[in-house]
Amino acid sequence: LTFLGLESSCDDTAAAVVRSGPEGTEILASVVAGQTELHAAFGGVVPEIAARAHAEKLDLCVEEALAGAGVRLGDLDGVAVTAGPGLIGGVMSGVMCAKGIAAGAGLPLVGVNHLAGHALTPRLTDGIAFPYLMLLVSGGHCQFLIAHGPEEFTRLGGTIDDAPGEAFDKTAKLLGLPQPGGPAVEAEAATGNARAFALPRPLLDRPGCDMSFSGLKTALLRARDAAVAEHGGLPRQVRADLCASFQAAVRDVLAEKSRRALAIYLAQAPGEPVFAVAGGVAANKALRAELETVCAKLGVRFTAPPLRLCTDNAAMIAFAGIERFRMGARDGMDLLARPRWPLDRSAPALVGSGK
Ligand code: ATP
Ligand code: FE
Repeated sequence: LTFLGLESSCDDTAAAVVRSGPEGTEILASVVAGQTELHAAFGGVVPEIAARAHAEKLDLCVEEALAGAGVRLGDLDGVAVTAGPGLIGGVMSGVMCAKGIAAGAGLPLVGVNHLAGHALTPRLTDGIAFPYLMLLVSGGHCQFLIAHGPEEFTRLGGTIDDAPGEAFDKTAKLLGLPQPGGPAVEAEAATGNARAFALPRPLLDRPGCDMSFSGLKTALLRARDAAVAEHGGLPRQVRADLCASFQAAVRDVLAEKSRRALAIYLAQAPGEPVFAVAGGVAANKALRAELETVCAKLGVRFTAPPLRLCTDNAAMIAFAGIERFRMGARDGMDLLARPRWPLDRSAPALVGSGK
C-alpha cells in the first residue's frame, strides 16, 4: 500500500509518501516546511498566521513529496490526513486539501488522529508489535498509553497541566533563548550544572502516572529572578545551570512516572515488552538516556524514533492512515476537523492540548 500523508495541525506543514507491504515499510519521501520564522516575532505560534501558511504551502509540499518519491497520484492507494487535535485553522487546511486530492484522483480518504500518528511511529520505524507501552511527550501533550492496536489505546495517566515541551519553550523564553525552546535549552544544559538549582519534582509523592509541569515553570521563574537580582543580570554560566537543573527535573519526573507505567504494563504480561517514547521532547538526549537505563534494568526493550520522526511530520500520518485503512477505515467528504480528539475513548478530555 502506498499512501500520501498530510500534516498541518500546528506549525509544520508536511507531506509524505509511505509504502508498506509484507516486506516492510519505507518512507519514500517526507517533506516538512517549518514556520518558525513566521512566528518568531510573536513568541509563540499564532493560529491565524499558521493556518494561512499551511493553506499556501500544502500543495507545494504535496508536489515535492510526490516528486521526491517518484510516484504519481495514480500510483497511490489512499490519502491520509491529520484531522485533529490541533489548531483548527491548520487542521481544516489539511483536511480540505486531502479531500480535494482524494476526490480529484478518486482515492480513499483516511482521517488520522495526530496523536495516533506519534503513537504508531515506533511501528513505522522498528516494526514493533502490539501491545507496547508508549510515552507521548510533545509540545502539547504528555501521556502514557498502552497501544493495543492502531485505534485502541489505554491511557494510564498524563500531565494535569502543561506539557513538557511547552515548559521547555517557556523556559527558553524566560532565559532569552530562541524558540523552539527544547533544543536551545538542551544545548545550554550541556555546559550547566544540574545540581546548581533545587527545582521541584512535582507529584512524585502522589501515586499513579499523572504529572504536573506548571509548578516547575514557576519555580524556574523565581530562580531566574533571584539570580538576576544577585548578579545584576543573567551570566552565561548561571543560565546554563538553570537549563541543566530544569532539564534534570523534567527528566527525573518522566523517569519515575515511566517506572510506574512500566509496572502496570508489565503486569499485563506482554510477549516481548517494549517501551517506546515519541513526540518532540523525545528528541532530548538526556531524557532518552535516562529512560533507556530504566528499561535496561527491567529487561524491557526501549525504542525511540529518530529525531526527525519524533517531531511533527507527515510520514507518521501516512503510516497511521495505512494502519487504519488495513482495519477497514474509510472517511468520506464529511470528515471533520477536530480541535480536540482524545486518543483514549474512555477519557473524558485530554488536558494540556490547548495551546
Ligand atoms: P503536539 O504533538 O502535542 O500537538 P507539537 O506538535 O507542538 O505538539 P512536537 O512537534 O511533537 O509538538 O514537539 C515540539 C516540542 O518538542 C516543542 O515544545 C519543543 O521545544 C520540544 N522539543 C524539541 N526538541 C527538544 C529537545 N531536544 N529537548 C526537549 N524538548 C524538545
Ligand atoms: Fe505533534
